Amino acid sequence: MQKNLIGVLNSKQAKELYSLAKKLNFAIPAVNVVNSESINAVLESASKARSPVILQFSHGGAKHFIGKGCPAIDSDVAGAVAGAKYIHNVAKYYQVPVVLHTDHANKKLLPWIDGLLKEGERYFKHTGKPLFTSHMLDLSVQPLEENVAICVDYLERFKKIDLSIEIELGITGGEEDGVDNTHIDNSLLYTQPSDVQYAYEKLSQTDGNFTIAASFGNVHGVYKPGNVKLTPKILKNSQEFIKNNLKLEDDKPVDFVFHGGSGSELEKIEEAISYGVIKMNIDTDTQWAFWSGVKEFEKNNKEFLQSQIGNPLGENKPNKAYYDPRVWLRDAQVSMANRVTKAFKELNCVGVLDKI
Ligand SMILES: [Zn+2]
Repeated sequence: MQKNLIGVLNSKQAKELYSLAKKLNFAIPAVNVVNSESINAVLESASKARSPVILQFSHGGAKHFIGKGCPAIDSDVAGAVAGAKYIHNVAKYYQVPVVLHTDHANKKLLPWIDGLLKEGERYFKHTGKPLFTSHMLDLSVQPLEENVAICVDYLERFKKIDLSIEIELGITGGEEDGVDNTHIDNSLLYTQPSDVQYAYEKLSQTDGNFTIAASFGNVHGVYKPGNVKLTPKILKNSQEFIKNNLKLEDDKPVDFVFHGGSGSELEKIEEAISYGVIKMNIDTDTQWAFWSGVKEFEKNNKEFLQSQIGNPLGENKPNKAYYDPRVWLRDAQVSMANRVTKAFKELNCVGVLDKI
């Protein structure tokens, strides 16, 4: 394990990691985090799994990090910066490489990215390192040409501070962070190989680093079985289409991102990885796991959680040891960490740090 790969990675280091992922057939879980509890849970799990990990803030998650009651108008920028700096400070103690990322930013949220870019440029000037490893721009509801043109413009600026971009082609169904795509036209949930090639060529011309979230029937959220028809073959078709048309050596030229990993069947995950998926996003399942830890704690200790004093052991017995937030938040953390551990196993990245 190379020492300089511990902590937050820059764009070039992430690119090398993704190339290795394609070679060794693994993907890295990207977990949405909202506070230090969830960040620590993911880092704890990564450290035990001896694997790199991706931590990401959604726009809402960034605002939550600084506090929903924070009066600053730009609390979305300030929250993401505060969260990022927290991760820079602690990741090294967990001894794992971290890709630090921001999730979906649609056209309305571009000012958020502009703010983060300004902060990132300042941070780079002082430290020579990027604040984030990558930002995602999700302009998938815009026409393809507009989507790609805007992403190319941003990548030109990103690359100057060692920052990469994740773009989205086609639309991820379902609902997340207040964006509701549950009623979207079905054909838009499946990206065309020619669209992937178009984006690949334009973004490659910038000489910056990028990943592509192409939709292959993915949805955000967990729904009843049968509602999701994942078709990872779309990714395979895109890789072959691009390799042949552009006469490339590489069998898997594109670094693909899998959105809506929660609730996906293992065989579809494995298939997607074999076609060049290097990052899989998980949010809904880890949200549930965090809550489930609290739920179980409450169920098992119900009689000790009804008042500050008095429980089945005596009417004057204090209950402080049960309602202390460190106790039940720890159970939430452990439960979330266990769900992330399952993701490391499913994505075949347990022990990766001992191979690089
Ligand atoms: Zn997503």
